[in-house]
This record gives sequence, C-alpha cells and structure tokens, in this order.
Amino acid sequence: MGATPLEVLKECFGYDRFRENQQEVIQTVLDGSDAFVLMPTGSGKSICFQIPAILAEGVGLVVSPLIALMEDQVKGLWQNGVRAACLHSSLPSGEVQSVQRRTAAGAVDLLYVSPERLLSDSFRRFLRRLHLALFAIDEAHCVSQWGHDFRPEYLRLKEVTDTFPGIPKLALTATADAVTRKDILEKLGLNDARQFIGSFDRPNIRYLVEVKHREKSQLLHFIQSRHLGQAGIVYVRTRQRAEAFASWLTEQGVPAAAYHAGMEAAARFEHQRRFQENDVQAIVATIAFGMGIDKPDVRFVAHLDLPASMEAYYQETGRAGRDGRPADAWMVYSLSDVVAMRRLFERSEGGEAFKTVQRKKLDALFGYCEAVSCRRKLLLGYFGEAHDGGCGACGNCLQPVDTWDGTVAAQKALSCVYRTGQRFGAAHLANVLTGTETAQVLRWRHHRIRTFGVGRELDKKTWMSVYRQLLSAGLLSVELGDLSGFRLVDASWEVLKGERSVFFRKDSAGGGPSRAQAGASPLEEPVDEASAQLFEALRKLRLAIARRQEVPPYVIFHDRSLKEMAVRRPSTPEAFLEITGVGESKAQRYGELFLACIRGEEVDIDGTAEGSATRTVPPAAS
Ligand code: ADP
Ligand code: ZN
Repeated sequence: MGATPLEVLKECFGYDRFRENQQEVIQTVLDGSDAFVLMPTGSGKSICFQIPAILAEGVGLVVSPLIALMEDQVKGLWQNGVRAACLHSSLPSGEVQSVQRRTAAGAVDLLYVSPERLLSDSFRRFLRRLHLALFAIDEAHCVSQWGHDFRPEYLRLKEVTDTFPGIPKLALTATADAVTRKDILEKLGLNDARQFIGSFDRPNIRYLVEVKHREKSQLLHFIQSRHLGQAGIVYVRTRQRAEAFASWLTEQGVPAAAYHAGMEAAARFEHQRRFQENDVQAIVATIAFGMGIDKPDVRFVAHLDLPASMEAYYQETGRAGRDGRPADAWMVYSLSDVVAMRRLFERSEGGEAFKTVQRKKLDALFGYCEAVSCRRKLLLGYFGEAHDGGCGACGNCLQPVDTWDGTVAAQKALSCVYRTGQRFGAAHLANVLTGTETAQVLRWRHHRIRTFGVGRELDKKTWMSVYRQLLSAGLLSVELGDLSGFRLVDASWEVLKGERSVFFRKDSAGGGPSRAQAGASPLEEPVDEASAQLFEALRKLRLAIARRQEVPPYVIFHDRSLKEMAVRRPSTPEAFLEITGVGESKAQRYGELFLACIRGEEVDIDGTAEGSATRTVPPAAS
C-alpha cells in the first residue's frame, strides 16, 4: 500500500510528528534489524512496534505480562481502526479459536499474547502457520532477576524467537539500570540490537518540595490554588491515613477515594474506576496504587509522607502528566518523617552489604529533600543522566533557596545532644538551647548544663530545622531504643572539632502560597469561560460513550484532544481531523457526536444506537 510511518501516525493515531527516537526505532524494525528501547513511561514506546506491525506484511506478535494492560491497549487500537487482538489464559476457548482463525487468515496486524501462551506447544505450532512481521517484548525488564518484576517465563522467550531467526525483535522497557540492561540483551538474544535510550527527564513535571508545617492546610491550599477540579494522586504511608485523608478531602470539597492493600479487591477496583472516570478528583493511596493504571491526565502527585526511595519517588511522580501537559510533583516532609525512616532503617534486618546499600539510598532521598539546587538535575543524576541544572521548572529554580553558614549552630546543636546524654529528641534539645525552662528541662536539671540558653539567637523552629538537616545529612543518628533521642556519629565529631563546615537551607515560612506556587503554570494557556464550559460538555459526552463501551474515557479521547476541541471549535469533519489525537477511525466514529456537541446541541448517544460509537467492535477484516 506504500504508506509511510508518518502517514500511519497521522491517519491512525491522529498525531502530527514523531517523538524522540520513535521514527528511528520504527525504521530499524522495518529494515529487519533488532532494537532495544529504553524510554520512560509515557514517552510513547507502543507506537514503536505498532506502526511497523501495521506497515509490514504479516502479524506483529507482542508479548505483554499484564492482562489488563493488554486488553486496554487492544481496545484503544480498535478505536483507531487498527486490527489488533489478544490471547491470554482468561479467554474462553471459543474466543481463542476465533482469534487464531482471524490471525491465520491475515486479518490481524497486532497480536498480543501472554508469555505463558506464547510458550505453550499448541501456540508454537500455530505460530508456524503464520507470516510474522516482528516480535515485540514489552516490559522487557521482567527477564532479569535484578529487576523488580522478574517473571521466569520471560527467560524462555528466546527459545521461541530463536526458531524464527529472520524476524526482527524489539525489546522495550522503562526501568533498567546498567545491570538489568545487560541482562535483557543477553537473555533475549539481543546483543546485536540497536539501542535507543531516551532521556528520563519529564520536562512537563514540576518538582516541588516543602517542609511540613500543617499538612492538611498545605495540601488543601496546593490543590485549590493550582489544581482546582483536576485529577491527582495523594500518596501516604499507612492505610489509616489513606482513609482519613480521603474523607477529609471530600468534606473539604475535593471528592476523593482511598486505595490501599487492606481493602477488598472489589472496593479497590471500584475506587480505581471512579478515579479513571473522573468521578472522584483524587485518589489517596498507599504505594499499592499505580501498578497497571494508565490515566494520562493526572495533573498532580502529592506525597504527604516520604516515598521509600528515589526509585519509588521517580515511579510515583511519573504517574503525573503522562499526556505531556504540565503537571506537579509536590511533596512535604518533616523532621519526624526523617526520624521515622532512619529508625526503620536502623531496625531493619539484613547483612552489612545490604545495610550499606540501604543507607546510601536513604541518604540520596534526604539529600533530595534538603537540596538547595536544581531538583531535576539531582533526580536525573541519581539515575546516571547528566543535566546542566537550572531547569526553571522545579521549586529551587523557580524560587532560589537561601542558605546560611550553620557551622557554629551545628556545633551548638551537637554539643547539646552530647551534654544531655544522647537520649533526647529535637523538641527538648531546642528548649535547652533557647533557654526555655519547661517541666522536662527542670526535671532533668538541664537548666544547669553549659549549653542551656547558648542558642538564644535562633528561635525554636529554626533549631528544629537544624536538627532535621543534621539528621538528613547523616551528621546525627537516632537512638535505637524506645526513646526517639539523637546520638552522635563519627561525622558529628568532625563538625564539633571544627574540621568540617555546614551549610543549612532557610526553610520558607510555609503555610501560605510561595511564589513558585502562585498562579497557573506558565505552560498551561488560559482558557476563557465559554471554552471551559464546552470542555465540560465534551467530557460528559466522552464519559457517556466510554461507559457504554465499558472502556476508560481516555481510550475515546484524551483531555488534550477535548481541550483543543473546546478552544478551536472545529465545525467540519475536515477541521475535526486536525485535532491532536483524532485519526480517521475516531473521526468516523465520533465526529458527528462531538461536532454536534461543539455546536451546542444536546447530544443523545442512545439516538445513534446504530452507529459504531456505541459499541466496541474489532475493526473488520479488509
Ligand atoms: P509508554 O508505553 O512509553 O509508557 P505509550 O505508548 O502508552 O507510552 O504512550 C503514551 C501516550 O503518548 C499515549 O497516549 C500515546 O498515544 C501518546 N503518544 C505516543 N506517540 C505520540 C506522538 N508522536 N505524538 C503525540 N502523542 C503520542
Ligand atoms: Zn530545576
């Protein structure tokens, strides 16, 4: 048929240009060579195998480990008029036969299979009857024991691909450090593959970190001043907090649902569905939430408690802004959070080597929290990617942090720890330093020691900040017993002896809006009232169609497309096709409905029961 990749991108997917690496990967596969693709989540890896499978003769086989994701992708492809199908263990056998029949007849361009299915003898026999275009191995890190999603079946995929030596192989993943990458290439037989490694930067995400003062009002202010009515995920540590914050937010006018491992599966699913359909604005979740969710229009991810590590932070914040539009990753943390995590670490089991690695990970996380320079540079640096800094879109770039030479303050703070017997926490120590005669100070006779009142030049809050930063920097550690007291470490003595100077960041006042947060995001263009209303109407229409077809709304159209419709208001089918994300197939299915909605008409999707808009059907064989 002679179409080019760019034409397919436009006609099927409704996009005008390729993103980084996409075109090169597609060309490599079309030329018959193998490729390894390491790009972050949301960067558009799927198109790298979908377009060659559509263009090349024969069927493209896609191995994917998660049934739910597989089904979502296939439904999404149908919407775009792509002949896709899937085979996995939960399908009834009649369905399996029908899919196999259609595939053998050449009526399927993309066949998604679970690894178990691919390895089965019957399927391998079936494969021999097919004309294959390519093998795509999605979530390729599952092949490595070093990764976090190891699946033993992945180790055997090579057995199958080896029996088809001429067919190009494509392995894709979003998570692979150097060791895992080497493993993937070896175990999948891709040592000669061309490697495409995308930047892990997510330029549309703005990284903001604040010291926790009053978490509730800070969170509410953040949502109401920057994300009114927009979808977001709030991460907390415990189930109780997830429940409590979900109901509190709802009371405050931010409809929210909880999500954690202690809930019944059905309730979890229901809350996830309500979030997907924008029926609630926010989901308040423990780390259990996120696997297998693909909601592109999450505008903020808020951490009310510290994530487990930088890896977890990157993954959790990465769920924001998958549609490429501006989004915020916002976090608050406090001295007690740092204390809690340090203690958890001290108590953890495990050998020396394990502990050393864990300590480094904690240090990196706290270092990120207390950072005074560009957060993006720090974050990418942690994952081995160089960045010049000065990104202009993180809290520290937007509002440079003041620092102060805290060497003398640090000496006073540490010596107060020493003179009180290395068993007290920050609040008591700050009272001693500021010369405050509380009942506890008097009881322990700490008003008689040399450090009593030597720190009157700073207020109590500043001393708390000093202790937090000393602990974050590893210049103090926490007591193992029941007391949450601090104890000195070797590095503390370097400070006490004047061998090491210390700089602290000035915490912002907190509570009120900081300059970095005030106003709308610079990347988000303002919308007038009428467009905002039309956008809401278009969203309602989309939801009605999505419910009817039992698919998530973004499978019909992304918010980005609806926004463009609301602002540009196309009035003809041709103009409708110009909207980002509208290809031929979607224009045909939904053009009339959405054009009517844009004209301001009442749209009744039941009135079009004959039309394909109301049913999910695989595109007919041609
Ligand atoms: P990944 O598999 O890398 O996580 P996806 O393949 O799911 O990412 O793509 C993420 C989103 O980006 C999808 O909504 C997809 O339609 C969109 N997308 C992919 N390529 C392009 C492009 N060239 N232009 C605009 N949007 C794109
Ligand atoms: Zn920055």
